[in-house]
Amino acid sequence: MTIAHNLGFPRIGIKREMKKAVEAYWQGKIDSQALEQTGQALRQRHWQLQLQAGLDWIPAGDFSWYDHVLDTSCLLGCVPERFQHSGGNVSLDTYFRMARGRAPSGDPQPACEMTKWFDTNYHYIVPELHPEQTFSLSSDKLFKETTEAQAVAGEAVKPVILGPLSWLWLGKCQDDKFNKLDLLPRLLPVYGEILARLSAQGISWVQMDEPILALDLPGEWQTAFENAYNKLQIRGLNQLLTVYFGPLEDNLKLACDLPVAGLHVDGVRGAGELARVDDWLSTHKVLSAGIIDGRNIWRADLDRQLEKLAPMHQRRGGNLWLAPSCSLLHTPVDLSAETKLDPELKSWLAFSVQKLDEVVTLKRALSEGPDSVAQQLDECRKALDARRHSSRVTHPEVRQRMSEIPQGYDQRANPYAIRRQAQRQKLQLPLLPTTTIGSFPQTREIRAKRRAFKNGDIPEPDYLAFLREQIAFMVKKQEEYGLDVLVHGEPERNDMVEYFGEQLSGYAFTENGWVQSYGSRCVKPPVIYGDVARPRAMTVEWIRYAQSLTDKPMKGMLTGPVTMLQWSFVRDDLPRSDTCLQIALALRDEVSDLEKAGIGVIQIDEPALREGLPLRKKDWPAYLEWAVRSFRIAAACVKDETQIHTHMCYAEFNDIIESIAALDADVITIETSRSKMELLDAFSNFEYPNEIGPGVYDIHSPNIPTVAEIVALLEAAMEKIPVDRLWVNPDCGLKTRQWPEVDEALTHLVTAAKLLRASLA
Ligand code: GLN
Ligand code: ZN
Repeated sequence: MTIAHNLGFPRIGIKREMKKAVEAYWQGKIDSQALEQTGQALRQRHWQLQLQAGLDWIPAGDFSWYDHVLDTSCLLGCVPERFQHSGGNVSLDTYFRMARGRAPSGDPQPACEMTKWFDTNYHYIVPELHPEQTFSLSSDKLFKETTEAQAVAGEAVKPVILGPLSWLWLGKCQDDKFNKLDLLPRLLPVYGEILARLSAQGISWVQMDEPILALDLPGEWQTAFENAYNKLQIRGLNQLLTVYFGPLEDNLKLACDLPVAGLHVDGVRGAGELARVDDWLSTHKVLSAGIIDGRNIWRADLDRQLEKLAPMHQRRGGNLWLAPSCSLLHTPVDLSAETKLDPELKSWLAFSVQKLDEVVTLKRALSEGPDSVAQQLDECRKALDARRHSSRVTHPEVRQRMSEIPQGYDQRANPYAIRRQAQRQKLQLPLLPTTTIGSFPQTREIRAKRRAFKNGDIPEPDYLAFLREQIAFMVKKQEEYGLDVLVHGEPERNDMVEYFGEQLSGYAFTENGWVQSYGSRCVKPPVIYGDVARPRAMTVEWIRYAQSLTDKPMKGMLTGPVTMLQWSFVRDDLPRSDTCLQIALALRDEVSDLEKAGIGVIQIDEPALREGLPLRKKDWPAYLEWAVRSFRIAAACVKDETQIHTHMCYAEFNDIIESIAALDADVITIETSRSKMELLDAFSNFEYPNEIGPGVYDIHSPNIPTVAEIVALLEAAMEKIPVDRLWVNPDCGLKTRQWPEVDEALTHLVTAAKLLRASLA
């Protein structure tokens, strides 16, 4: 019999119960017992949901109070010294201090670093490794949750563990000459203990997540896989090795030959490879086909999947398992909680609960014949058919425009060297011009007014008047600081993607479509379901108003096409590159309208450009090509004298600096204040051709930089970047800061620029 299973269920809860409980605990409003009760209730509910869906196996250990990589580090006893863990089980507060620096008990310490989990928007806590690192079993969580799950589902429990090689790969060693793989011999015995203990608890299958098999791996890591899994054999305990987020490619044979009882592959992103895996993997082993997309929210084409699965089912019988492609961590919980979503659009979607229904439908179609699920298959066909032919999906004008993009549409009329002259003439900026990245503090007052307006508690004219007052206040502030290029401050924006998505056609928004981003932070990505078009100007009135208040240049503020794409659920019936192009075309019209309204400086933010990079290096050039082209198409319509800025909030772009230069923005502002050395590195091998503003105020920290510190940063930057191409600015938007901090920091920033100007004159 074909088995239906799941790699992991979202932890947050349909009402974000996990977030609320954990934050209440941090604030001292509930104790650890109450917190644990919420955890138990959530796990129970999620297991019940999975059993009700008809799964044969449910996962245990996929729940987490913050992050499963951090859970694994605690399981292995890998706790950095500063947290003063003295052996035994890692306490809940030590765990939270590792995650976020603070907990109700214990001394605050710098938190562990956090970074993106593969190419998702989920962030994990980076394991800190050092050459003398030792390991010992230091947490009961996995075993307790396994017992809990057994009480619900008996034998049908499959504990989930992050495998030794992926955990090690994700870790970071301060000493970069040290080879992390040298720790493997010390690590494996603890993994052995974990497996033995699970086996003793009556477990027959464990899920070993090794997603790094979807990456470009150095030869020694490939070899290490063989060695490690040869050692990790426990009699009577079957291991399902799970790989997701991409095809196996050059790791395919390696993965198929590892001494494990089963292999799970990503049958969505690795769809083209599934038949080869079926060929290579011995029929004695279980092949788990991840054929339902765990990374997106669309209803699957069950007929097509059945066609693909039929030959595998014939060959393997009960050794074919079915599951979502990856853990459902990256998908919202339950579509049925959406009451305001348009019913037609809703019928095209599947969230976690619905995805499990799809897995089970496929299983039944294979084992009992398609007639047994005729109704489900029919419903699916109807929905897909409606989606394919819906007039709301395709926008003929957009299609026509895409097919008629003229040559040179992505090119400014003249190269930077010529534009620069025109911009100087027009803008008359001093040396080392000062500016900010866009947002000013989103005060309690602003958020309260926005909420009241959304709830219908204040009339629109009052809300708009309030926003105008805010803009006037922010413009006045900037004039007082003495900044050179001003911004309107973004008080009307809740979020840099949602604000634009709400005004574009082809975008939809959910009420409860939350996914975990990190710890207790959840995001609600918009859904791009159709061709994107701009029915009317989105920002022009605000920027025009702001410009009317000052003689200084006002900078228009837009979110770039790649970021709009990257932070949304994207349609699966059109290449990402095409959707990106559609957004670019819509933004191009906005850019053009801003210029017509007399705005001489326009910033197009692309903070997500880098995170869109594919997992495999060979796929980078194609991505960078369309991503850069989209940006350029959005920007290239303006005259020489109109200055295009872009902004990115990270410094690690040594490996894509040429593409960043290829954006051909006149000015780029970037994060550097926390990692200035990294920035300067990038510029030693590559001379950035246009103007650049390395952030000199770290807005992520409550610390206020002194004038001397800012001068020192600028002097360091001047060694790499000619002074006449250098800008002075914070490293990101100021929306999370308080006004008193901003007042002081920006005053220092302007003073530093003036001091340097005087000394250079
Ligand atoms: N313009 C945006 C702001 O200042 C940029 C935000 C970002 O880079 N993430 O808030
Ligand atoms: Zn930023």
